[in-house]
Amino acid sequence: MIVNHAYVNAMKAIEAAYGPVGEYGCIRCVRAASRWVVDNRAPATVSVDMRRFSGNPDDVWPMCTRCEHDYDLMDDAAGPVFRRVSTFAQRHWFADCFAVDAEGSVSLRDAYTTYLDHCAESQIPTSEIMTRHAFKAAMLRHGGIAARSRTGVLIRKIRLRTN
Ligand SMILES: [Zn+2]
Repeated sequence: MIVNHAYVNAMKAIEAAYGPVGEYGCIRCVRAASRWVVDNRAPATVSVDMRRFSGNPDDVWPMCTRCEHDYDLMDDAAGPVFRRVSTFAQRHWFADCFAVDAEGSVSLRDAYTTYLDHCAESQIPTSEIMTRHAFKAAMLRHGGIAARSRTGVLIRKIRLRTN
């Protein structure tokens, strides 16, 4: 039997980040997820049975086999369609709203307002929205540096993506 070590290692990396796929619902329907599916917009390795896989936790989504099949047939540039909002939608808040920028800065107040707007647009359930305190901690994890200014807390080295 040929063991695809690259595939096995990739799946180990994904499970280390999220745990077993069976613990998630499919992002497109109400069935249970059974596969980690690589976002069509992200780079992936193709296995011998022509399945795309990736060990990058940021690039995969939990889907059921039927939705995976549908998604495989879609355009290469198509992101997944969310029919069910989950914590999986929320992990993109940083990339959607902010950019790491050595010269940049944003006030915590503006940053948090932007985040809340993003949550509203993405229909993130209230229970999954970070408090201001948790949000600040997350910004620091993403490389921001908190500084005091006359107008309140400033986050340096991160800027708003819009404008
Ligand atoms: Zn599904």
